[in-house]
Amino acid sequence: MKIKVIGSSVDGSPCQFAASYLINDQIAIDAGSIGFMSVAAQKRVKHIVISHSHLDHIASLPIFIDNVYEPSPDSVIVYGMPSVIECLQDNFFNDRVWPDVVRLSQEESPFLKFVAIENGQPFQLGNLSLTPVELDHVVPTFGFIVDDGVSAVALVSDTGPTEMIWDFANRNVRLKCVMLESAFPNSMGWLAEKTKHLTPELMRTEYNKLDRCVRVIVVHIKPAYYEEVTAELRALKLPLLEISTPNSEYEI
Ligand SMILES: [Zn+2]
Ligand SMILES: [Zn+2]
Repeated sequence: MKIKVIGSSVDGSPCQFAASYLINDQIAIDAGSIGFMSVAAQKRVKHIVISHSHLDHIASLPIFIDNVYEPSPDSVIVYGMPSVIECLQDNFFNDRVWPDVVRLSQEESPFLKFVAIENGQPFQLGNLSLTPVELDHVVPTFGFIVDDGVSAVALVSDTGPTEMIWDFANRNVRLKCVMLESAFPNSMGWLAEKTKHLTPELMRTEYNKLDRCVRVIVVHIKPAYYEEVTAELRALKLPLLEISTPNSEYEI
């Protein structure tokens, strides 16, 4: 399976300003910056799975919908928990921030279709099985176990210390990789606690909940603390740790 961390900077910054991950070119997890890829790359994406309603994970979704729309019975499908779908309808597609493409989809060729997903209930997209698992963030948030039958990866962001997804990850014999957040430096543990994110120290504690050593790719480092967080991550000296860089593709 191929996973790309989609870039979100216009000037080559190594920072991740918004979150979106592309699997095998066709499935996006989160939509922070998918609307800013080339139009050809956007048109290959047919499924967008949203982890939670925070802006850095949904920001470019309306732009994306606009960029890929073609009048036809098919449309992109957006997956999320019911509260996320409601949030998108109420706050994005409301004829103020953006046209109400949900209503327009009933009147004309559809712009998008929403599908509700549930905690712990796997769903299939092509040859991939995705299992949403509740994390522990300030709004309801899903992490995902993505499994192609040969390899599996756990995407664990955004979250504070959590348990359930590690149970799912430990039960999956194909797990090869964890993409794990580390938002704030250790000195800002107080803010990580209030906003339910991780620091490098907390990230290591989470990683240690796995019953085996797998590759860990760190994502979602807050740009304001990028240098501090990456220095603290390197100081952990975890042999299988990598710090993600924008537009990198990872073969899992
Ligand atoms: Zn968040
Ligand atoms: Zn976030």
